[in-house]
Amino acid sequence: VPWINGDHHWKARSKMPYIISREAAIAELKKQKPEQECLICWLQQQTDNLTIESTEHTSVILSKCPARWGHLMVLIHPHFINYTELPASIWTAAAEKAQKAAIVLETVLKPVRCYVISAGTSRSDLQMSSPHLHFNVIPVYEQDDKPSTVLTWKNGVYSATEEEWSELQQSIQQEWNSL
Ligand SMILES: [Zn+2]
Repeated sequence: VPWINGDHHWKARSKMPYIISREAAIAELKKQKPEQECLICWLQQQTDNLTIESTEHTSVILSKCPARWGHLMVLIHPHFINYTELPASIWTAAAEKAQKAAIVLETVLKPVRCYVISAGTSRSDLQMSSPHLHFNVIPVYEQDDKPSTVLTWKNGVYSATEEEWSELQQSIQQEWNSL
């Protein structure tokens, strides 16, 4: 896979997917998402082909703004914003999906490791963060990457052509369905 080599700064690759700037990603998201709407609730309602699975309390989707190519999200619904009010059964169901997502990524994309993170925040200055509980499952391809280099938008996020998105979605969907 070509995108695992080289640095992760935002220059176009000889072969895509490519990196777009944080500003471009935020602008694109703003075009699509109503300003006041919760990001996670909004993502959950999307009917684009980035959804891998949707069940009563969880949805597994490809991130529209992947920190690394293949970045999956496990959305929890309805709108819970803290662990105190979240029923243990829903947490467990979501955690199982997060593990399955990591297994799928390990198989399909062969990262050096997978980050599984539940890191919502109510800080409104962090535009890509949401207090609504969810998991990020991020395949990491570089040995020396660390949370501070992966969990940031400052170096931009990945984007790709329709065809590449669809190829990624299909390979992940296929592996997901086989487990
Ligand atoms: Zn929400």
